[in-house]
Order: sequence, then C-alpha cells, then structure tokens
Amino acid sequence: MKEFDYICIGGGSGGIASANRAAKHGKRAAIIEAKHVGGTCVNVGCVPKKAMWYGAQVAESIHRYADDYGFDVRVDNFSWERLVASREAYIQRIHASYDKVLAANEVTLIKGYARFVDDHTVEVDGEHYTASHITIATGGHPVIPDIEGAQFGIDSDGFFALNDQPKSAVVVGAGYIGVELAGVLDSLGTDTHLVVRKHAPLRNFDPLIHETLVDLINQEGPKLHTFASVDKVEKVADKHLKVHLSNGETIDTECLIWAIGRAPSTGDIGLENTGVELNDKGQVKVDKYQNTTAKGIYAVGDITGHAELTPVAIKAGRLLSERLFNGQEDAHLDYSMIPTVVFSHPPIGTIGLSEPEAKAEYGEEAVKVYTSSFASMFSAVTRHRQATKMKIVCVGENEKVVGLHGIGHGMDEILQGFGVALKMGATKADLDACVAIHPTSAEEFVTMT
Ligand code: FAD
Ligand code: NDP
Repeated sequence: MKEFDYICIGGGSGGIASANRAAKHGKRAAIIEAKHVGGTCVNVGCVPKKAMWYGAQVAESIHRYADDYGFDVRVDNFSWERLVASREAYIQRIHASYDKVLAANEVTLIKGYARFVDDHTVEVDGEHYTASHITIATGGHPVIPDIEGAQFGIDSDGFFALNDQPKSAVVVGAGYIGVELAGVLDSLGTDTHLVVRKHAPLRNFDPLIHETLVDLINQEGPKLHTFASVDKVEKVADKHLKVHLSNGETIDTECLIWAIGRAPSTGDIGLENTGVELNDKGQVKVDKYQNTTAKGIYAVGDITGHAELTPVAIKAGRLLSERLFNGQEDAHLDYSMIPTVVFSHPPIGTIGLSEPEAKAEYGEEAVKVYTSSFASMFSAVTRHRQATKMKIVCVGENEKVVGLHGIGHGMDEILQGFGVALKMGATKADLDACVAIHPTSAEEFVTMT
C-alpha cells in the first residue's frame, strides 16, 4: 500500500492542475492516468483541433483571399500527413513540458487504470494507493448511436487518428465538435456533409449566431442537411460507406464521423465501493465546492457535466486544492458568465445569456438588444466578403450586459477581454465609455447604437 496526501484519478486538464497546485502547497500528490498525460484536451481535443483549424485558416487564406491581396499562389499539393506531423510534434512538446512540471513539483505519475476499493483507496494493476483526499477527474468519451452499421463510423478520437485526408466525409451532430470538424474538413478540401437532427447546428446559441452560421455554411461551407438523422450505415467496400438518412437521402462517403455528444467516464471505476452518487446522466454529483456525496472524494471537469471546457476543469481543480491544502475555506469556481468560442468558419464567441434566455429570465420588457452587421475588413478588401454579426443583450434601466455574442473573423481572440468586462458586471454605458480601437471588428462592441 502506497500512501499520498492527495490522488487525482485522470491526468487531464482538471487532474493535472489540481495535483500540481496541491504539490505546490507541500502535499504528496499523485496522478493516475490510463492513457496519455494531458487527457482529452491535449491529445484528442482542443489542441489537435486548433492545429487543424489553423491549417484550415491557411487554406482559406490561400484559396479565398491571397489573390486579391496580390499573391499569385499556386498550390500543387496539400499534405495532410505533414499537417498531422506538425500537430503531433507540438503535442509531444506539450507532453515533455508536463513531465518537466510534474517532476519539478514532485507529483508522482502512476500509469494505469484506477478503480476505487473504498473511499480512500484505489487499485491500479494490483497495487493499492491510499490518500485522505481523492479527486475524480476522469473526463468523458464520445458516444456512438445504437443503429445498424454505426460501427463503420469513427468519432472525434478516430478523426485525430486519420493519417490520410478522406476525399469525402459525413459528420453527424449539431454541437461544437460536429461544427468544428466539418468546418476543418471542408476548408481543407474534403467533400464534406454536416447532418443535424433539427433546424440548425448550435441551435441553443443566440438566434443571430446560429442563423448566421447556417447562412455562411450554405454559402461557403460543408453541405448542410437539416432535420435529418442517420437510419442505417452500409459498408459497400473499403473507404465506401452508404449513409441512409431519415429524410430519404443517401450519401456515399469515404468517412463517417459521429459527433453526437460525449458520455462521462464513470462506468468502470469502482464507484460502487464508495459513497459517490451519480446523476441520471451518469455524471458525478458535486456541490459548489466540488465535494461528492462521499467524504474525502471530490470531482472536477467533464465528469461533473458543468461547462465541459478545459479552463473550467483547470480552474475548478486549482481552486479545490486551494481550499483543501491552502486554508482558503471558501475557494470555489463561480460557474456563471463563462466565455466560450466555437472554432467554426468564421469563429463564434459567446458569453452569458442569449436573447431568448434573457427574455425568459427577465421578461420581454426588461431586455434591450443591440446588434451590428458588417463584412469583416479582412474579407471586405477582397471579392470574398464574409459576414460578421454581433449582439449585446442588456437588461434593466442601467442596461447591464447579460450576454455578448459574435460570429466573424477574429471573434476567437476578441471575446476574452469582453468576458472580463461582463464578469465585472459591465453596463452598456461602461462598454461605450471605452474608446474604440480602429480599424478592428472588436470596436463594434463599444460603438453599438
Ligand atoms: P479529460 O481531459 O478528459 O481527462 C480525463 C483523463 O482521465 C483522461 O486522460 C483519461 O485517460 C483518464 N482516465 C479516465 N478514467 C481513468 C481511470 N479509471 N484511471 C486512470 N485514468 C483515467 N475545451 C475547450 O475549452 N476548448 C476547446 O477548444 C475544446 N475543444 C475540444 C475538442 C474536442 C474534439 C473535444 C473532445 C473536447 C474539446 N474540449 C475543448 C473539451 C475539453 O477537452 C474538456 O473539457 C477537458 O479535456 C476536460 O478535462 P477533464 O480533466 O475533465 O478530463
Ligand atoms: P454537444 O453535446 O455539444 O453536441 C452534440 C449535439 O449532437 C447535441 O447537442 C445534439 O444537438 C446532437 N445529437 C445528440 N444526439 C444525437 C443523435 N442521436 N443523433 C444526431 N444528433 C444528435 O457535444 P459535442 O460532442 O459536440 O461536444 C461536447 C462538449 O465538449 C461541448 O458541449 C463543449 O462543452 C466541449 N467542446 C468545446 C469546444 C470548444 O470550446 N471550442 C470544442 C469541442 C467540444 P441537437 O439536439 O440540436 O440535434
């Protein structure tokens, strides 16, 4: 039996952040990781996705804009293999830097799959480890539907394992992952279809955002199939699938990607040996301090189902360690007003309430909305003009800003600063009091009338 002060099960965003912070406060901390340090984000999530998105941005610059900016570019070849090699080399460098930081902090990394034996003991490959504080940070995994032929498709993990560029692809799903992967494939030259069950992808985002996204996809993106789900998949030959849709259409494709959501990885970790309770989605129930229903066991990140984003897992993990090991009794993450970006084409940035959500919460009368619509200057200089749309949602007489949304060139980098302002409780007048930076897209957020 090996003893620690603190064990994190899962070496992803939340587990690493929490264990490092505990170690900085002098605790003997350990991380147990079944696959790769860095978890989903570094290995099969944010990082490889963003690398592919940057690749797609380069492709768009060459094919849509280079000519009107005066560049006579001839592209003989695009090597998917080279892009993947650059991406994976970058990930290797992240692994190396994680190893360095863990070693410097004297955090013990235990490789293997952990299962609880009791509330304070876990077992990995027959070895027992004990700690008075244990955090579950096991994240989630992609879901595959229960339909005939579903196994011929891949998921987002499979997408990042593709060594060759598919000539054609069908991406199924209306969330972040469906939109992002379909956009990347399309921009890099794969004949891409995006299949969604309802009227639009990202339909819970503000209407201005998802309606503009649909317009842009229809103008220059993948082929969008709305009100369609997959009934059956047939394998005709190697790299030839027939995807049968509920609306009667059939799509012949080389590659099918399921992006219909993720499930929590709580299935086989021995929770029945603990007092940890799950909700009806299989996520670990936690209070605002990340306490589970078992004393001494905590949970952070995707496994809790609250805002499944890397910075959320990191912050919750660090604050938990501040509370447990640095005397900050009230340290906890405030889950309100979390900014988020979808790396679509162009990107979407959003924080706070959509217009319908604000009206439902505060009443129609109390809500005032400001919008702006223009072609981003980057595109407007060329013949390939691309829309940018922005919205600010305000409530009450002092016009407190409760939501801020945008889709357009640069939105991914614009949002963070406005996130700070909204988190501080900015009113419309506060935004207006800031002098605009010209010429940018961001200035529209401080000049709307
Ligand atoms: P994870 O990072 O999933 O880590 C959990 C770890 O636990 C894994 O390494 C797993 O191997 C390990 N594990 C599981 N069970 C056990 C066990 N029993 N024993 C030992 N180890 C175990 N978020 C963003 O903020 N921005 C983005 O751009 C973004 N893009 C994404 C793109 C994709 C394709 C995906 C899938 C996700 C993306 N996310 C993004 C979400 C982000 O990756 C997650 O919110 C984040 O990784 C959650 O961190 P975590 O610590 O909760 O879990
Ligand atoms: P999401 O839950 O965001 O989206 C999946 C969507 O697929 C659902 O919203 C639903 O939309 C649709 N769907 C569900 N079941 C089915 C089905 N059986 N058939 C067809 N469509 C279905 O999951 P993702 O996997 O896209 O992403 C998981 C989370 O990871 C995100 O919510 C986000 O928190 C995080 N993430 C963050 C990123 C970022 O920060 N840029 C990037 C990627 C992921 P509908 O009901 O409209 O059909």
